[in-house]
Amino acid sequence: METNYDVIVIGAGPAGYEAAIRASQLGLKTACIDKSLGLDGKPVLGGTCLNWGCIPSKALLDASHKYVEAKDHFAEIGIKTGKVEIDVPAMIERKAAVVKQLTGGIASLFQGNGVDALAGTGKLLSGCNVEFSPHEGDAVVMEAEHVILAPGSVPVDIGAAPLDGDAIVDSTGALEFDAVPKRLGVIGAGVIGLELGSVWSRLGSEVVVLEALDEFLPMADDRVARDALKTFSKQGLDIRLGTRVIESVVGKKGVTIKYQDKDGDQTMEVDKLIVAVGRRPYTQGLLAPDSGVNLDERGFLYVNDLCATDAPNVYAVGDVVRGPMLAHKGMEEGIMVAERIAGHKPLVNYDCVPSVIYTHPEIAWVGKTEAELKASGEAYNVGQFPFAASGRAMAANDTDGFVKIIADAQTDRILGVHIIGLQASELIAQAVIAMEFDASAEDLGLTMFAHPTLGEAVHEAALGVSGNAIHMVNRKKK
Ligand code: FAD
Ligand code: NAD
Repeated sequence: METNYDVIVIGAGPAGYEAAIRASQLGLKTACIDKSLGLDGKPVLGGTCLNWGCIPSKALLDASHKYVEAKDHFAEIGIKTGKVEIDVPAMIERKAAVVKQLTGGIASLFQGNGVDALAGTGKLLSGCNVEFSPHEGDAVVMEAEHVILAPGSVPVDIGAAPLDGDAIVDSTGALEFDAVPKRLGVIGAGVIGLELGSVWSRLGSEVVVLEALDEFLPMADDRVARDALKTFSKQGLDIRLGTRVIESVVGKKGVTIKYQDKDGDQTMEVDKLIVAVGRRPYTQGLLAPDSGVNLDERGFLYVNDLCATDAPNVYAVGDVVRGPMLAHKGMEEGIMVAERIAGHKPLVNYDCVPSVIYTHPEIAWVGKTEAELKASGEAYNVGQFPFAASGRAMAANDTDGFVKIIADAQTDRILGVHIIGLQASELIAQAVIAMEFDASAEDLGLTMFAHPTLGEAVHEAALGVSGNAIHMVNRKKK
């Protein structure tokens, strides 16, 4: 077995596999070690994102959305259906097929780009030495010029709801239910709680979401969060803020949850309980005591702006380092590090990381919120355009939400864009591109958008920053 490499990557999630492919493309001899096993017990590439995260959750979100459309909304647009039924095992099987196709795609990309995929566990020793323990056989010590650590993250567990792998599950278990639970509890009204809560609610579960904070989606724009709470509640998600779960006991008929809210002690019975209270960096068994890599106070691998750790030639990227736990953030870090190792000088623009919540309507944003700007005292102007005034949204029978653009009061530079509505996940890319190029709201207003598109709402919101929107009555600007 080959044991000398220019680059060894530990972890083949989006951060690690993109780093490995880019390094190999740039002529560096590269190996990528990953220990994940799929449901069939065979090694799989792609990490959390492809196997238990972004992709399978979106497969179920899309399927469950289509079910709601067919059941509740086709008649509104003149399509008659017979009785619309769901087949959960078929839905789960299709999701697994999508995952398999994509993880197999990474294996082909590794092969095509000359990356050696090694199935097993990697541990960083001192220098740039790595101990590789294959799933079968003896460990070997490998040498590299550079090491990139990309071991990702795992769900946080809480004592008040210990997982039993059946009735109380984390996000991974919630992607595998074989039937629709009649009553479903979710702890945590964050991204996973809302996405997976929506999936099972659409398929017919009575869903109660218990959230510790008094505020809903505090990281999002206030108005977006308010609208979202109203809409999700109408859709059937019973979101209870300011709750503290004390205990969850699994019995013959499901789970009894004891929690406290402003009115005192409460009890609730559910058939299944999803715990979705955040994720934590995963570093178990990753570092030998003399690896030279340090952790920060929150348990993340400590890195500088260029993702360099404290150990020479050792980098860390993705969920295991500071910043949002998002696949695309890790991908950009992985590519940056590979290119820097090869002598190029790219940077990651951490001010332009888009966030998306794939509910319906979708929520997406990039840059600053009004609350952040108020707190820092920066003067700004706002343009906002509702999808209710968009011809394309009306044609699509889907007019909830709006686009809000915030621009600097002096320079007109776009500081933040917040969208709730149909295809917000796609529309936000327009804002990211504009912000990457330091565009002003006027620049976006002078740009031609195809008609009729949802993107025209972005255009109109940009025009609205200076009070010049065409398809709505502008508020007078001071
Ligand atoms: P991971 O994807 O976690 O991959 C790390 C890999 O390293 C794993 O395969 C792990 O087994 C392996 N590994 C760890 N330690 C070792 C070791 N010592 N030796 C060998 N291998 C090791 N993000 C988005 O941007 N959009 C979404 O829509 C989205 N949806 C999500 C939905 C769910 C349900 C979940 C749970 C997450 C979602 N995320 C989403 C988050 C996204 O999955 C993560 O941000 C992303 O996977 C992190 O990538 P990573 O490469 O850092 O780590
Ligand atoms: P999160 O941080 O988004 O939300 C966790 C929620 O749980 C928070 O609202 C928190 O206040 C609440 N909480 C924490 N402890 C609690 C307790 N004891 N009782 C009740 N509520 C409690 O975390 P998540 O939803 O688990 O997602 C984990 C990570 O995965 C996130 O960082 C996210 O970025 C990523 N992710 C992203 C996407 C996406 O991009 N669409 C989708 C899924 C996950």
